[in-house]
Amino acid sequence: MTTSAHHRMLQRFSSQYRQSAPCVTVISPHFDDLPLSLGQSLRNGALASCQVRERVVFGRSTWTEWVSPAAERAAPISLWRRAEEVAASMMFGFDWSAAQWPEALLRNGAAFGPEMLDPAKDLSAEILIPEIAGWLQAVATVAQRPNRPPPALILVAAGLGGHVDHRLVAQAAAGLVGHIDIPIGFYEDRPYVTYLSTAQLSAQLASLGVELEPVDVSPKVQASTQAAARLCYPSQMKPFFREAMDLDRANGAVERVWFPVGTCPDWFAT
Ligand SMILES: [Zn+2]
Repeated sequence: MTTSAHHRMLQRFSSQYRQSAPCVTVISPHFDDLPLSLGQSLRNGALASCQVRERVVFGRSTWTEWVSPAAERAAPISLWRRAEEVAASMMFGFDWSAAQWPEALLRNGAAFGPEMLDPAKDLSAEILIPEIAGWLQAVATVAQRPNRPPPALILVAAGLGGHVDHRLVAQAAAGLVGHIDIPIGFYEDRPYVTYLSTAQLSAQLASLGVELEPVDVSPKVQASTQAAARLCYPSQMKPFFREAMDLDRANGAVERVWFPVGTCPDWFAT
């Protein structure tokens, strides 16, 4: 049965639920990545029985389908995207907050667009990787909010598809595997993963330098979940996103998280 937004809202105010449900923090490079990539898991998969806190990394944005991504529009567009995230957090049932790093087009200018999706680009000298790694270490140890424990699991975008912002976050997290006390899983980035062959997926995961195994975290992705995501993010829905959703349904896709071998907690998975 699909867990409705109303039901999840009620769960949040149940003291029994608060004590028993594990806390999971999901690192979302941009405002839309959590519902796009793990929306089915939030509704009736592995995340449906967890207290989910999303932390957005690149909270300053100029990217919409509606206007060119000029830097002077960053304030109103970031505000609009926060409003979309409020809608999604209510629809899918998670808490969220956003860090304030500027996304790729703001850091590098709009002309950077064609270079933004490059799975082979060398990021080893990127100063943002240690910066984000330090922030992730703090995120791993602080309570999600008052009267809650720190997260029992962190999920991070795997960087599949080569979006530079996703890859920076994935690389930062990969460097922490084995160095922090809680497990880290890498979730498949939608819509990008839909377009990858098995060989491309393996090659891109290998760039993280960690031996990983996949875990299914949702039933088959459903049209109603996709419709909910489209409704929450009108500013982001270009054909690339909608076509990926159609392909996912046609292929019977499920959402997956890749864990360092043997580290998926037994309470997590479908
Ligand atoms: Zn993204």
